[in-house]
Amino acid sequence: MANKMRNCPECGKVFVDSGAGICNQCIRKDEENEIIIDSYLRDNPGSTIKQIHEATGIKEKTIMRMIRSGRFGSGEVSYPCERCGAPISDGRYCDECTAALHNEIKKVSDSMSKKIQPVKPKVDNTGKKSRGMYSNK
Ligand SMILES: [Zn+2]
Ligand SMILES: [Zn+2]
Repeated sequence: MANKMRNCPECGKVFVDSGAGICNQCIRKDEENEIIIDSYLRDNPGSTIKQIHEATGIKEKTIMRMIRSGRFGSGEVSYPCERCGAPISDGRYCDECTAALHNEIKKVSDSMSKKIQPVKPKVDNTGKKSRGMYSNK
């Protein structure tokens, strides 16, 4: 039994997954949708998923899946930034969020390294120097 039975994520029907991830019916539908979206994009380059959905009636989820699988050239379709929702056509975040995220990461690692930085050594009341505490000598 090499064939995997699974539910089609598009229509929910059980099908034998031959590697496409969706059932044959949906593959055919995908191809039709691709042609529709393609011709729409030729007239309206840089459209958002919402615009494509409104113009073609194709589910946004389906359009998103097509974009993620690289059906359309980069820059042809814009989709929302995962952080702020601004339209982007490449990657997961817009330029602003990419910069903001970098800053946040920097801030976090800065504050972490500040915490790690040694605090002034406590004055040793006994007058003994702590040197030698862990010494192997
Ligand atoms: Zn299906
Ligand atoms: Zn953003």
